[in-house]
Amino acid sequence: MIPLPQAQEFVLAACAAASPRAARLDDTLGCVTATSVVATEAVPPFVNSSMDGYAVRSIDLADASSSAPVRLDVVGTVLAGSAAAPVVGPGQAVRIMTGAPLPPGADAVCMLEVCVTDDGGAVVVIGRPSDTGTFVRTVGQDVAVGDIVVAAGTPLTPALLGSLANQGVDRVDVHPRPRVGVLSTGDELVEAGLPLGPGGIRDANRHALLALVVQEGWEPVDLGIVGDDTDAVASVLDGAGARCDAVLTSGGVSVGDADVVKTVLRQRCDGTMRWMQVAIRPAKPFAFGVLGASGTPVFGLPGNPVSAMVSFELFVRPAVRRMAGHASLDRLTVPAVSVAPIRRTPDGKTHFVRGVLTLDPAGAWRVRPLVGQESHQLSVMAAANALVVVPDGDGIGEGGTVPVMVLSPDRLEVVPSTDAPAP
Ligand code: AMP
Ligand code: MG
Repeated sequence: MIPLPQAQEFVLAACAAASPRAARLDDTLGCVTATSVVATEAVPPFVNSSMDGYAVRSIDLADASSSAPVRLDVVGTVLAGSAAAPVVGPGQAVRIMTGAPLPPGADAVCMLEVCVTDDGGAVVVIGRPSDTGTFVRTVGQDVAVGDIVVAAGTPLTPALLGSLANQGVDRVDVHPRPRVGVLSTGDELVEAGLPLGPGGIRDANRHALLALVVQEGWEPVDLGIVGDDTDAVASVLDGAGARCDAVLTSGGVSVGDADVVKTVLRQRCDGTMRWMQVAIRPAKPFAFGVLGASGTPVFGLPGNPVSAMVSFELFVRPAVRRMAGHASLDRLTVPAVSVAPIRRTPDGKTHFVRGVLTLDPAGAWRVRPLVGQESHQLSVMAAANALVVVPDGDGIGEGGTVPVMVLSPDRLEVVPSTDAPAP
């Protein structure tokens, strides 16, 4: 058996960031920038109002109070998008809407809610002072010319896309989304819609793996199912190598009679293929090689559905994230208190136990290991939001602290710790 970090190192060494290219801004969510973008336009570009109200001269309102309100002549209205605004002179105000340019002469905005109009709107009556700059947005208050809007190496978020749009940017240099092919192998696999014959099972892996690919923001390529036939697997891999940046296969990397994927990879990877028994459970068997013809890395994941998904987490995700230009490759791992014992015996392996991670109201992470840890029990993987990393040894007692890898950050909940161990 080979230790997990060594196996991961081998895979990562063969996966480099893809060359950047310019992409349409709206196609870049989640992509990693290859160059920094420096602001060429100030945001806001002009002084404007942050409220609906009246643009005023603060000096005119210096002595205003509820018992002695000030009356100002309304000399015009300015809306967002107005190019010109009337000048505000002494004793005057201009009705102004949010985002409209502050008229010359004015230095503050008095919000509509505290203004009373008179004379059919020709006069505004204000009963409180308004300091200079009140409800006024200044040029460059958000972004000044020369500021870095986004640094090279940053994964693009919705707010960053908006910030780039603020600069009038419509194309961005990013590392392209990796195109990732997914192939299921096995004579027993049956597509949905076809009857399960004797010995047949449904193809779960291709759909789970394609979904993981989509979830990572990569481009999925469905390579279908092939039987345990060396020539058929070879021909699909040859074709996939030419149009994918990485290929994931499942099945056929074990020690069984029909384990053809490792045979094909041995032929096609010019001696770079390594078939490994990794010191982990589940997902011990794993094959990895780079196709000689295309330079495309192939990840030979095990066939058991939970093993395939765990293998994706440990090998595929970090490596393909690197190809996508990410510097941070690993899942967030937090220390959590196990609310139940995790029993195991020493076997030289690190166990990745499916569990439910919660944050208790006091701010402590708790994890509940799930029942059903066999590698075919996909329903238990589906119920989990995390993998408990259990080191080799005799397991973890109730209340013990363990590292937990967060699989579904969007499925973490803050819940009362009803299943917390007794103090
Ligand atoms: P293998 O790695 O090919 O020996 O397969 C190990 C186990 O995983 C066997 O029980 C297979 O039937 C099962 N298996 C292989 N591929 C899939 C798949 N795509 N979906 C569901 N189960 C699979
Ligand atoms: Mg098989």
